[in-house]
Amino acid sequence: GPARRPLMAGNWKMNLNHFEANLLVQKLAASLNEKQLTDVEVVILPPYTDLRTVQTAVEGDKLMIGYGAQDLSPHASGAYTGDISGPMLAKLGCTYVVVGHSERRIHHYESDALCNAKVQAALTHGLTPILCVGEGLDVREQGRHVSHCSEQLEGALAGVSAEQVTKVVVAYEPVWAIGTGKTATPEDAQEVCGAVRDRLANLYDRGTAEQVRILYGGSVKASNVAATMAQPDVDGGLVGGASLDAEEFAQICRFP
Ligand code: PEP
Repeated sequence: GPARRPLMAGNWKMNLNHFEANLLVQKLAASLNEKQLTDVEVVILPPYTDLRTVQTAVEGDKLMIGYGAQDLSPHASGAYTGDISGPMLAKLGCTYVVVGHSERRIHHYESDALCNAKVQAALTHGLTPILCVGEGLDVREQGRHVSHCSEQLEGALAGVSAEQVTKVVVAYEPVWAIGTGKTATPEDAQEVCGAVRDRLANLYDRGTAEQVRILYGGSVKASNVAATMAQPDVDGGLVGGASLDAEEFAQICRFP
């Protein structure tokens, strides 16, 4: 959509120590000029242990790159051993946080109700949640992908107001296309991203839905990003593997 600024978010997953993180941030920043970083919002999502280093690099050199975490606790503080809270992330200069990535739904059994609590926690602490929805291969083969993603969306947005939802980013990530080299066709991406926007229009109103950015994720590469981004309801990409290569990710961010 013309009014929505494209967003390219690099999900590093559980890769790179803080030394390697610093190198990648510097390389990425050097590969993109000011105009490119104005036309497209570029965000990286490193592991927690890299965030302080990324903050130092971004603030020290005034890099036009945003950053955030891959998950957060639904709680603000307390007896939750091993968890990281929204206020901790905000204090490190994070502006984004992923919620409900399929790898967390699968390996940590995260439910829509937990994702809802995490979306609310992110918004409460001034972080933009990147809420992931997406179907597995079985659901796709049964032709239930649209209703599956709509249900995940509605569950994770329970109690979120229209004003708040304009600050949410939704990422459609078909699980069968993540890390598999299998990219959804641009038409597949549009079908679900369009349906997500229609569901938002039903849950809120059309004007609100038009403000929400919807990303596609699943084996996005420099070679396939332009066709996917040409779809009317795709406003950006959530990029895993390809975001670990500075030149490849920079090329993805230069798609226009
Ligand atoms: C992801 O983890 O969000 C993702 C889309 O991974 P990949 O690009 O490697 O498929």
